[in-house]
Amino acid sequence: MSDLPDDFTCTITNWEYIYGLCRDVADEVRSAEFDPDVIVALARGGWFAGRCCCDFLGLDDLTSLKMEHYVGTAAKASDPEVRYPMPEGSVEGKDVLIVDDIADTGESLHHAHEYVVERDPSAVRTATLQLLDTSEFDPDFVGERLEEWAWIVYPWNFIEDMIDLIQGVMERADDKRFERADIRRYLATYHDIQRIEMEIAQPDRLDEVLAEMERRGVVESADGAWQLA
Ligand code: AMP
Repeated sequence: MSDLPDDFTCTITNWEYIYGLCRDVADEVRSAEFDPDVIVALARGGWFAGRCCCDFLGLDDLTSLKMEHYVGTAAKASDPEVRYPMPEGSVEGKDVLIVDDIADTGESLHHAHEYVVERDPSAVRTATLQLLDTSEFDPDFVGERLEEWAWIVYPWNFIEDMIDLIQGVMERADDKRFERADIRRYLATYHDIQRIEMEIAQPDRLDEVLAEMERRGVVESADGAWQLA
């Protein structure tokens, strides 16, 4: 999220909705008569989807790959690389399904696919819960195609993302102290997060996020208002 401009649209999701997308992906895999032996879930965004797809498809072999954005002279900042090598025997000779949460540039899935293909699997397919049309990689199975670019706030990431978003709007706004209503107003202005949308997807969680921001030393609170620490 750190590379994004100040203003960008966010969509807040919840567990039920995302679980439905996991089911949709699994349905597509079944309809294609692809019968994977193992799921490779990309860390960390693909873990929930990978685990749910194991359940939907009846698999007990789940492994993980962590893609990391390498910043250096030899590679573009956006080129993700595999962080840890995969244990031997994870994918060799197997039908592999690689799963991630969203393909945005598509680079993570693209590189994970290359990495797995180099390890002599019997077949490899890729799946993503959501696909943005910015992606240059075309996954085999897609839960939902998003027509407009947005930052998707996933339930497993809710606190992390909301802290980043709230800290960002506080740094940007001219005010020094923010009441709850100010924070909500700035989230709507800069990120199109409407109060109703947030309360439907993740009810009563603003105070929890603010308390966690205080615990982590990002903000300080006094008299029902918060300011950057
Ligand atoms: P990619 O650009 O396709 O390599 O995306 C890499 C990872 O970054 C994804 O698996 C997500 O975990 C995260 N990510 C990228 N774009 C978004 C987005 N628009 N909303 C939420 N997460 C994102």
